[in-house]
Amino acid sequence: MKNFVVVGASLAGLRAVEAARKDGFDGRITLIGGEEHLPYDRPPLSKQFLYEDDELDTTFRSRSYLRDDLGVDLRLGTWARGLDIREKRVQLDTGEIGYDALVVATGSRARTLSDYDHLDGVHTLRTVDDARAVRAALASAVHVVVVGAGFIGAEIASAARRRGLDVTIVEAAPVPLVRALGDEMGEACSALHVRNGVRLICGAHVQEIEGTRRVEAVRLGDGTRLPADLVVVGIGADPATAWLESSGIAVERGLTCDATLATSAEGVYGAGDIVSWHNRTFGQSMRLENWTSAAEQGRMAARNALGLGEPTAYATVPYYWTHWYGMSLQFVGLPTAEETQVVSGSVDSDKWVTLYRLNDRLVGALAVNSPSVIMKCRMMINNGVSWQEGLDFMAERRRASSGV
Ligand SMILES: Cc1cc2nc3c(=O)[nH]c(=O)nc-3n(C[C@H](O)[C@H](O)[C@H](O)COP(=O)(O)OP(=O)(O)OC[C@H]3O[C@@H](n4cnc5c(N)ncnc54)[C@H](O)[C@@H]3O)c2cc1C
Repeated sequence: MKNFVVVGASLAGLRAVEAARKDGFDGRITLIGGEEHLPYDRPPLSKQFLYEDDELDTTFRSRSYLRDDLGVDLRLGTWARGLDIREKRVQLDTGEIGYDALVVATGSRARTLSDYDHLDGVHTLRTVDDARAVRAALASAVHVVVVGAGFIGAEIASAARRRGLDVTIVEAAPVPLVRALGDEMGEACSALHVRNGVRLICGAHVQEIEGTRRVEAVRLGDGTRLPADLVVVGIGADPATAWLESSGIAVERGLTCDATLATSAEGVYGAGDIVSWHNRTFGQSMRLENWTSAAEQGRMAARNALGLGEPTAYATVPYYWTHWYGMSLQFVGLPTAEETQVVSGSVDSDKWVTLYRLNDRLVGALAVNSPSVIMKCRMMINNGVSWQEGLDFMAERRRASSGV
């Protein structure tokens, strides 16, 4: 094995090249990234990055570290345009590159309201360039409309409120975050917007964004007109698979991978947001868009692709965190539950823990401003503990903290 190529120079791609070297691969490594930037961290872009006018540097590693310490041939500003799985070659906009092993880590792309992309003041937030544009717009905005009450929309609303701006969130679903947190907790968490002075309009769709060169207002389906000088669209992201379309590699709701992250093409593995794979922990196929899985999959895809040790299945309890209005929200597991129970604190306060039950198993946990409990819950879910064991664990913690 001589030539290891990674396409996508972000979290999963970076972890892949780091793992390759750490685990002893001494062949050639090429890391290809479409953006001009060194690999950087995305979560702060919708949080701290927007709070201040001074720029926060979220770069993971320096160019010299990648080149000299890891011996990586880093090709930034280079887009992969196609893949020849028979000849084992990636077509780039600058030529072609052959591989013996390939990790595809091209992540997700933000969905847009494409009819309005041309209007000044309408933004999405996926890249550091997007974040710079949103931050600059926040500095002079008065009325902000956020379309989509998902995690990123919520963080942008929170950042805008921190700057004292007038903020409205427009959400198509009757309750926000149902797919991520379930009905009850979606409702409970979205109440945080209202408590922090944000107007939340649910079950509404954007009929039109008004303005000729610049955005002036958002008009909803029921005729409501929301004046706006900044609109941020946070309506989710799609896997960046377009460049693979004619390759013949299996793609379905993401790049299809088996439990070891191998794709349908020999020598090609997937990692990060782009991957749809069979997660043995829950016996179902998933595509996750969270930091922890992208990092873990990057490492594992490289090891499995390069045959560094026995092939390992990637099985995980999903973990996502977010920050709104100075509060930390963390979720582990699955939100598809038959029952949720608030087992510590209360949803009317700023601190609580909710457990999720499916059949007789603990399958999920939400911790709001309760960081010490979440990794323990993740471990319990991973170990397949019963619902009762989950409840007993939390009862024991309550007793211990009250000193009874
Ligand atoms: C604003 C924001 C906030 C977030 N906050 C959180 C959070 O609080 N908690 C959490 O758990 N997760 C969060 N996430 C999710 C987390 O950042 C992602 O799960 C993670 O970045 C995925 O990493 P990745 O390497 O798979 O993909 P990406 O980070 O999407 O990177 C893919 C890279 O591939 C490049 N690329 C795409 N196509 C091509 C091509 N054809 N050729 C070459 N290069 C290509 C892209 O330009 C990009 O640089 C957040 C994401 C965003 C955008």
